[in-house]
Formats: sequence, C-alpha cells, structure tokens
Amino acid sequence: MSAPCGLAILGSTGSIGRSTLSVVALHPEKFRVAVLGARSSWQVIVEQAKQFRAETVVLVDPKAAALARAALRDCGSTTRVECGAEALADAVAADNVHAVMAAIVGAAGLSSTLAAVRAAKRVLLANKEALVMAGQLLMDEVRRAGAALIPIDSEHNAIFQCMPAGYLPGEVARGVIRVILTASGGPFRCTDLGSMEHVTPDQACAHPKWKMGRKISVDSATLMNKGLEVIEATLLFGLPERNVDVIVHPQSVVHSLVEYADGSMLAQLGAPDMRTPIAQALAWPERFTSGVQSLNLAEIGQLTFEPPDHERFPSLGLARAAARAGGTAPAVLNAANEVAVQAFLDRRLNFTAIAAVIDKVLQHYDSSPVKALDDVLDADATARRLATALIEPSPGAFA
Ligand code: NAD
Ligand code: MG
Repeated sequence: MSAPCGLAILGSTGSIGRSTLSVVALHPEKFRVAVLGARSSWQVIVEQAKQFRAETVVLVDPKAAALARAALRDCGSTTRVECGAEALADAVAADNVHAVMAAIVGAAGLSSTLAAVRAAKRVLLANKEALVMAGQLLMDEVRRAGAALIPIDSEHNAIFQCMPAGYLPGEVARGVIRVILTASGGPFRCTDLGSMEHVTPDQACAHPKWKMGRKISVDSATLMNKGLEVIEATLLFGLPERNVDVIVHPQSVVHSLVEYADGSMLAQLGAPDMRTPIAQALAWPERFTSGVQSLNLAEIGQLTFEPPDHERFPSLGLARAAARAGGTAPAVLNAANEVAVQAFLDRRLNFTAIAAVIDKVLQHYDSSPVKALDDVLDADATARRLATALIEPSPGAFA
C-alpha cells in the first residue's frame, strides 16, 4: 500500500472545506490531514483537528489562534497552531504536504494558492477568485513549477472529466473547439427586474440547487459566479472568451459540456453535490466513493436548457468584457464584486446596485498589462477603494 497523501485544506471550516473532510473521512487510509486553515472559526477547526488528528492548524486571526491553541492543549492534542496569512502560505509549501485544497473564499486565498503552486503541490482549486485575479500569472507558475491544478468548481471539474485522456489544465486540448458552462439560473431565474431591487440577502442566498457559502451564493444570484467561471475556463483550458458559452439548466444535473471538432459533445452528469468533484480531484487519476447518491434520471424526467437573460443579469456581460480586456480588468472586476457583495450582505447596497457598482468601477479604471503580482495587487486595492467610495460616497473619491 502506498503512503497516505498529506493533505492541506485551506478554508476547512467553510462549505467546500467541510465537504472535503467528509470525503476524506470515507478514506482514512489514503489521507493524512497535514494542515487545516481558516480565518477565525476556532471552535469548528478545533473539532476538525481532534477528529482528523491534524498536524497543523493555521488561523489567520491571532485571537482565534490563541483560543484554538489553548483548547487543543487542554485536551492533550499534539496539533501545532500557527497564526497569520504568512503562516498559511508557509504551511502549504512544507514537505509534509502533497495536495492542497484551496477553498478560501475571495482574494484572501490568492497568496496561499500561489504558494502551493510555486511549491509544485497538487492544487485542488475551489478558490476561483485567485485564478480570476492573477490569471495568466498563476497559470505560468503552474507550468514553471510543474504543479498539477485540478479544478473543483463543478463546471470546470466536469469539463476536466470530459477532456481527452491525459489532459491537464493549462494545456491546449487537442480537438476541443468550445466548452459550455451550465448555470442553474440561481434563485431569481424567473423574478422580474422590478422585484429584484429589494430582494434580501437571505433570499439571494437561498439557492435552489446548491448549498454554498454566502459570497458565492450571492454571485450565483447575480450570475457573476458564471461570469467569474467564464474567465476561469479561459485560463484553465486555454480558450478565448468567445469559445466559452453559458447555458441555463435549472435542474443542475449536466454540470458542463465539451464540444469537439467532429461535432461530438461530451457532458458530465451527477447530483448537484460538491462531494463528487471533490472526490474526483482527491482520487485523481483513480476513482473512489464520495458519499453522493446515484442519480435517478427517470425520477428527474426532463432536462431543460435556455439562454441566459443578459438584461436582468448584467454581471455576466461585465465579466465577459473584463475577460476580453484582459490585463488587470478581471482583478478589478473581482475586487469591485467582492466589495459590492459584502455591502449587499451587510444591507448597505441593493441587489441590483451590485452590477451597477462593478460597471462604474470598470469604466473608471482602464485595464493595464500584468507583468508582476504587484500589478494585480495594486489593481485589486484601487478597485476596492473605488467601489467603497461609490457605495459610501465621499467627496472627490472619483476625481
Ligand atoms: P465559505 O464562506 O463557506 O467558506 C470560506 C472559508 O474561507 C472559511 O473556512 C473561512 O474561514 C475561510 N476564509 C475566509 N476569509 C479568509 C481569510 N481572510 N483568510 C483565511 N481564510 C479565510 O465559502 P465556500 O462556499 O466554501 O467557498 C470557498 C471557495 O470555493 C470560494 O472561492 C467559492 O467560489 C468556491 N466554490 C464553492 C462552491 C460551493 O459549493 N460552496 C462551489 C464552487 C466553488
Ligand atoms: Mg461553479
């Protein structure tokens, strides 16, 4: 039997992190939990560390780290507790780590994802924002370091599964002319534009098919999630934006499709449950169980498809425009979106104003080429300032 794989799970207390641990629990002989990382939920991470005998826990928040350290010491655990964002990046690059589940939400996940790539780990990428921001830079690092990047996002994982045998993200797939991302349409698929202005955060987070963290749930409701996924697909699969299509498929059974030059379309189907792509990536290139129930197609009966409505969901078009502009534009889009979504969740901004804020920030900020990581980080910081100024207007902010 081969030695167990040393696994780091960043964002272990979140939706993807918890699903990952539930799959790991089904295969205890195959994995060692080397690192668990999160921002501040120390009680949850302490329980996870005890259950999975984690070697290291990293909490970004120092107070939470101190509480976790005391709690683990009190119960005689040998788990080491570190604190801070740098400790997170150091922990994933360590020799006891072979694979990294990058499942921190938002731009906060960029530095640890990049550290894992640079250390040539197998990177299971859920943190799409890191890829949208750093784009070509991250993909260049993947090639330079010889890291393997396995997509966790259900659509991209589906596409990865439909690619030619031996294909790895970052390569050009021979014979592939187009990929088609499916979208559930979110909770407001049938809501008229007039009623969308006053929807609440809880309504926006009540996704009809997927149970996810609050940020990605709002992104799914605006369709920005699909926009970020278009950019993600161009980078992972080396395709221009015009060759990445989006189709609304409310049943969320077909997770995406790949079209080949000969007219063949391959699709991956499954229950809408993230444990399937997580298990596929953890087991790759083998297969093992995920705990997900088999699909009953007769019970589902019908699979339907419709085009996205760009008028009610302008975010998808904004993301496409940023993909075409390239350079810093996707980082600007992502940063403005993160600020606007947080303001919506805090009830400081209406739902329909999310796209309006992003649009204004993009208009104000000309895209420039990305030569180094600092270009991305500067664009991110400037876009955040502009978006914040738009939401809480202060004189002269847009001068
Ligand atoms: P979540 O909100 O449930 O969890 C987020 C995790 O990130 C938590 O563990 C939190 O502690 C950690 N975190 C937040 N800020 C941090 C910081 N500054 N430093 C360190 N850790 C921090 O989110 P989620 O739904 O699990 O999504 C995680 C990522 O996976 C996102 O990028 C999302 O787009 C992507 N994704 C999620 C799903 C899903 O079904 N949930 C599907 C596809 C892709
Ligand atoms: Mg997705």
